[in-house]
Amino acid sequence: MALHSHIERVLWNQDQILARVADLASQISADFSETSSPPVIVGVATGAFIFLADLVRRINLPITLDFVRVESYGVGTESNGAPGISSDLKVDVKNKHVILVEDIVDSGNTLSCLLAHMEAKGASAVSVCTFLDKPTRRKVHFQLVGEGKFYHGFECPDYFVVGYGMDFAELYRNLPYIGVLKPECYQ
Ligand code: 5GP
Ligand code: MG
Ligand code: MG
Repeated sequence: MALHSHIERVLWNQDQILARVADLASQISADFSETSSPPVIVGVATGAFIFLADLVRRINLPITLDFVRVESYGVGTESNGAPGISSDLKVDVKNKHVILVEDIVDSGNTLSCLLAHMEAKGASAVSVCTFLDKPTRRKVHFQLVGEGKFYHGFECPDYFVVGYGMDFAELYRNLPYIGVLKPECYQ
């Protein structure tokens, strides 16, 4: 079965995504334009990889880039509530402003774990830039660090979405848009 035939509905297409990513990049570029120390952009693997690549190429600032990997989901569609860092930073974030780049914030468990981790490493501020946000699903109230800000691309309705980096059971990351799978594909 060809990839696109697995999709029931497209929520945001490529043009809508790139227009919004360009807005976020301009906002970040403007917010950091007066700062002397370049921010450290930390992509949360694997889900953020396409968003991260599109975003950083539109940010008009010198930046440092690194990745962390967090495991919490397994193959299902519900977080198990106990995320752990399975691959850590290489870059030193002490006294730096970190911008965590995420695909989607759902319960908030992953983010609160990452915020605490960056703070423990001595980051002076931690911002979050997530492509999608599902605020109605929040279970954990997370606190940004220092002067950190929260940037988000779109508010996502309460569907399990795939594409633009996001998977179901490690499939569908390569879809260039955000969509919802046909029910039979979630089996
Ligand atoms: P949280 O810890 O906030 O519950 O979940 C965050 C992580 O769960 C996200 O970074 C993402 O990897 C995954 N996730 C949450 N909602 C969705 C969704 O609708 N689709 C996909 N593919 N992953 C999701
Ligand atoms: Mg993620
Ligand atoms: Mg996943």
